[in-house]
Amino acid sequence: MRAGRAPDGVRLLAVSKTHPAALVAEAYAAGQAAFGENYVQEAIEKMEALAQQLGADAARRLEWHLIGPLQSNKTRLVAERFAWVHTLEREKIARRLSEQRPPGLAPLKVLVQVNVSGEASKSGIAPQEVPALARAVAALPRLELRGLMAIPEPSDDPAVQRARFRPLRELYERLQQQGFALDTLSMGMSADLEAAIAEGATLVRVGTAIFGARETAESAV
Ligand SMILES: *Cc1c(COP(=O)(O)O)cnc(C)c1O
Repeated sequence: MRAGRAPDGVRLLAVSKTHPAALVAEAYAAGQAAFGENYVQEAIEKMEALAQQLGADAARRLEWHLIGPLQSNKTRLVAERFAWVHTLEREKIARRLSEQRPPGLAPLKVLVQVNVSGEASKSGIAPQEVPALARAVAALPRLELRGLMAIPEPSDDPAVQRARFRPLRELYERLQQQGFALDTLSMGMSADLEAAIAEGATLVRVGTAIFGARETAESAV
């Protein structure tokens, strides 16, 4: 509301990586259904534990988003078990996901991950490469291209945070003007979600501010 945004225009993705299924169940009981995970194997173990704990009907209402890097040897599991992928970077991966998406499920919703920080980041593709990948993805029958995602270089300064989100929002708007029916701008985490919302995020990915600090460095998990 402080940013002048309609509250229902910004969705919350609860990032549950490294946290146990019991905490996901607690968040679900509090009304949260969308969860983000970075590691495919960890996510699937959690999905199975939750089907036990909550029952199959409740477990089906959970919406899983892959927000970590996706290797080609994991595409089948992702196509079968996730609703969203935020980290699409390659046409080859897109094609595999489309081929492997089971016919009984809705098309897999995907976001292209964009590198808005240049050399400071190795994840995501350069902004100028996004339109070509977007066109390729839009042609795949079992994928639904919904928008863009980025993880800009962190800063403690809200003005700098906003300046780093802005190019992603501008690219998103250019793609919409070119005719892509996009509705999802995935940007903002615990430390910068206010800036991301002020710049137009429609989905914020929040872990620490919901579940507390993670035990170890990301790379050690
Ligand atoms: C871990 C992670 C988050 C959540 O980060 P917090 O700082 O704990 O909110 C969000 N997005 C991605 C891609 C992540 O890997």
